[in-house]
Order: sequence, then C-alpha cells, then structure tokens
Amino acid sequence: MKLIPIPAFNDNYIWMLHDERRALVVDPGDAQPVLTALAQHGLTLTAILVTHHHGDHTGGVDVLRQRTGAQVYGPATEDMPEPLHRLTDGDIVEVLGLRLEVLLVPGHTAGHIAYWGQVPGADPVLFCGDTLFSAGCGRLFEGTPAQMLASLTRLAALPDATRVCCAHEYTLGSLRFARAVEPDNSALLNYQAQAQSLRQQLQPTLPSSIGLERAVNPFLRTHLPTVAHAVQQFDPMARDPVAVFAALRTWKDQF
Ligand SMILES: [Zn+2]
Ligand SMILES: [Zn+2]
Repeated sequence: MKLIPIPAFNDNYIWMLHDERRALVVDPGDAQPVLTALAQHGLTLTAILVTHHHGDHTGGVDVLRQRTGAQVYGPATEDMPEPLHRLTDGDIVEVLGLRLEVLLVPGHTAGHIAYWGQVPGADPVLFCGDTLFSAGCGRLFEGTPAQMLASLTRLAALPDATRVCCAHEYTLGSLRFARAVEPDNSALLNYQAQAQSLRQQLQPTLPSSIGLERAVNPFLRTHLPTVAHAVQQFDPMARDPVAVFAALRTWKDQF
C-alpha cells in the first residue's frame, strides 16, 4: 500500500492510499490533481472519504464520483454532496481490503469525523482532516473547546506509530507558536529543524506520527504543568484543563 499526499490549492493535501491497482482519496477539494495522479499511476478510484463539509475538502467530490463511479463516504450530520454513505462514531468502512474505523471528532466542525485503520505490513493511518495538524489543531468554527479537547485526546490515544495524515501543510507556522509555548522542549527544537529542511526542499512535513505529536504538539500537552504555566502567562484565569485548552487556542488565534 502506498500513501501519497497530493498537493492542492495553497496548502491542502488530498491523501491517496493505493495498492498499485485501486485507490482511495481523502478530502478531494479539487478533482484535477486527483485525476492527474490516477492517470500517472494507472489507478482506479474506488472510494472517496470526506472528513467535514468545508469546500476545500469537498469541492472535487461530484466530478470524481461522475468520472470514476467511486463510492463516497462522509459525516452523518454535515451538509455533503449526495449521494454518500453517511458515517458516525464506531462505523467501519471496508475499502481496498482495509477496515477503517470512524471516529467522531467534533470541534473544528460539529460533525467532523476521522478515519483510522491498520495497514498490513505498514504502520496504521489516521486521516484527521482539519482536527489535528502537526504541532497544531484546527480552529474552533462550530464546536466548543471541551469538544475539541476530547476529540484530540481520543486521537492522541491511538498507537504511537500511527501515520497522521492532516489536510493542510501548516507545520512551520504551528511550530513557531509551539516554540513560544514550550521554548525548552528539545523534541520540538529538533522537529522544527527537520521540518524547515523538508520545506526548503519543497517536501511535505507529513505524515507525522501520533508519537511525535504527543512529544511536540502543545494542543495534546495541555495536561502538562509546563504547558499550563505558559498558557497562564497569556491568561491567568485559565485553571482547569478545558480553560487551559481554550486559552491556548485563543493565544494561537492571536499569535
Ligand atoms: Zn475545515
Ligand atoms: Zn481545510
């Protein structure tokens, strides 16, 4: 199984997983780069997985469905291009011989879902849309801080080796903020150097891994006293875990 990030728009990735014959894609905001990749590798598109309703994740769905006949899967409670298989927490998607588990992860949008699954002979994959970014997380457009914290906590509990396939290349910007929160975190410093070098070579910084995110991502580390203390310099009223998380997100929005 090969995992490829297809760049789209300014900073989106449309993730493609294929077995040299059949492919699935995640969040195709634009059809053209997907059609090009399918032709380039001689692949048949069998499934389109969508994480949430934003146009940069759904814009290519109709064209791809028409051109390929691929089955479309998406969140049960969001406005989606029809027809599609509507999924909710705990559902299983069987595609390319894989069993992908659906996790409901509200916060960025109210019905946002993620897909996690084992891949034979390789590390597991997580398609998390705009919920978890490398060293960051999505903005809270529709959900509450408590919901987003619970969603990220669930993702952080997945196996360390899980390959984290985020929908945007936001890593360097997120790392600048993460360094302001945790200036003494050496894993963060090392990762920043590595990510800068990848971007200088125009390479994706993704996929990341859950193990790495647990070590560097401040939004998965709000339970740590160092992170809580840094957040309290920004907002002295942030005391309980949800308030610390909310203040961290507000701090990032203003950074
Ligand atoms: Zn979004
Ligand atoms: Zn997006």
